Amino acid sequence: MDCIFCKIINNEIPSYTIYEDENVKCFLDINPVSKGHTLIVPKKHIKDFYDIDNETLLNVFDACKKVTNLINKKLKPNGIRLLQNNGVLQDVKHFHLHIIPSYTKEEKNNNAEDVFQLLTK
Ligand code: AMP
Ligand code: ZN
Repeated sequence: MDCIFCKIINNEIPSYTIYEDENVKCFLDINPVSKGHTLIVPKKHIKDFYDIDNETLLNVFDACKKVTNLINKKLKPNGIRLLQNNGVLQDVKHFHLHIIPSYTKEEKNNNAEDVFQLLTK
């Protein structure tokens, strides 16, 4: 199957992975809306919210708690938005939850390598 997120999960294409366990992978969005914009994907290929089972949804939100705590601690945003697109709004047809931090003053340094270092060191 030609799915870009399955390729990221299988390490066939690189990602800035900030958290991973047996069920999910969390990595920086390649085109971030803000500093620390992260995607959480289940390791099973599931298309969207209509298809996802409750157990996998719980795995995604378990990881989401961990990652939002990490982002809050390390990047200190003033708010965090969770977003999940379906249908025509969804570009990548592998379920993913966006974590989008917001800041009072938009952070200038949005370099993925620097954000990765801040979140993982
Ligand atoms: P959506 O519109 O919810 O399907 O969003 C798809 C998201 O995936 C967009 O925010 C893209 O920037 C992001 N994206 C696409 N390819 C990659 C990639 N190789 N690594 C990280 N994020 C990606
Ligand atoms: Zn996939």
